[in-house]
Amino acid sequence: MRAHTQVGAARAAASTAGSMATGNEVDTTAKEPSQQALWQRIEATYSSAEARGAAYRTDTLVRVLRDLQDPRLRFVLRVATALRDKPKPPKASGQEGRPAVNPFLPYEEALWVAHLSPSHTLLLNKFNVVAHHLLVVTRAFEPQGTPLSAGDLSATWRVMQAMPHGGLAYFNCGEHSGASQPHKHTQIVPLPLAAVPPLLEAAADEATRGAGAAAWEPRAARALPFRCFCAALPEQEGAVTGKALAGAFQALHAAAFRDVCGEGSPSFNVLLTQRHMALVPRSREAWGPVAVNSMGYAGSLLVRSREELEYIEAEGPLCILTEVGQPW
Ligand code: AMP
Repeated sequence: MRAHTQVGAARAAASTAGSMATGNEVDTTAKEPSQQALWQRIEATYSSAEARGAAYRTDTLVRVLRDLQDPRLRFVLRVATALRDKPKPPKASGQEGRPAVNPFLPYEEALWVAHLSPSHTLLLNKFNVVAHHLLVVTRAFEPQGTPLSAGDLSATWRVMQAMPHGGLAYFNCGEHSGASQPHKHTQIVPLPLAAVPPLLEAAADEATRGAGAAAWEPRAARALPFRCFCAALPEQEGAVTGKALAGAFQALHAAAFRDVCGEGSPSFNVLLTQRHMALVPRSREAWGPVAVNSMGYAGSLLVRSREELEYIEAEGPLCILTEVGQPW
């Protein structure tokens, strides 16, 4: 990964972006940007979308909380500065009588960053809690429930690599996973997450490198109280490809759902860092007032109400993650 100096190039990138065709138009001449240009483009688009009010930032204060069960584990609570008294009920996409609107097709032009490939494009997340929160979406509609493909993962990996300190990518899949949009998308946030390493990193290290597992080999992370399967990524330059990542996803999915013969599609979260891919099967979306998506398993919880804050402090984050996951 290259560390980028941000030499005022954002302005140059903005003007380059401005002169290019926007994402919803079909422009076969639009070139995909280089890695360094990509990060500059992300910064420039984010600044301009915030200034124009196209992207909304929820103001939060970061609190680091030690878990009750295991005080070695630290969680990042992002507590909304405007705490509501009651949490909002989870919103359904396509509410009664109203057709669901797909926010990714067409997407808002002000949120478009760049095309990553003929099949994938990069957008800013409209409702963000951390700066430069991104979405990799398919340019044509594909259901979120279809398996992560080499194309999804190579586009996602490319964006992670463009971030100065690397990125954390995630995929919420299924009705209990915390997903809200049915159009296929992965999400990426820049690391570090408030200086606390992603929760699963240490457990994944123990289950793979510590146990001498070969790169890509799926392992159960038994140190955690909930079911979690992970694979170490190889460290050699160029060894991580979209195809290899898709193979790892399939292996983790098979390990997690081998013995499952229930009805409907299983719900799960996938997390990807420079070092690991991890998959966590889910049983429910929320425990008490606390709704959880992949970010919860990265050790980061968004707190929007007093009730949620009190609940997390009383139960402990690990207990909540176990209840919405699947105990071993
Ligand atoms: P998920 O809830 O995991 O399915 O992720 C969908 C993401 O899309 C959420 O994080 C939303 O903040 C984001 N989102 C919702 N509407 C838009 C929009 N119009 N443009 C870009 N991102 C959006």
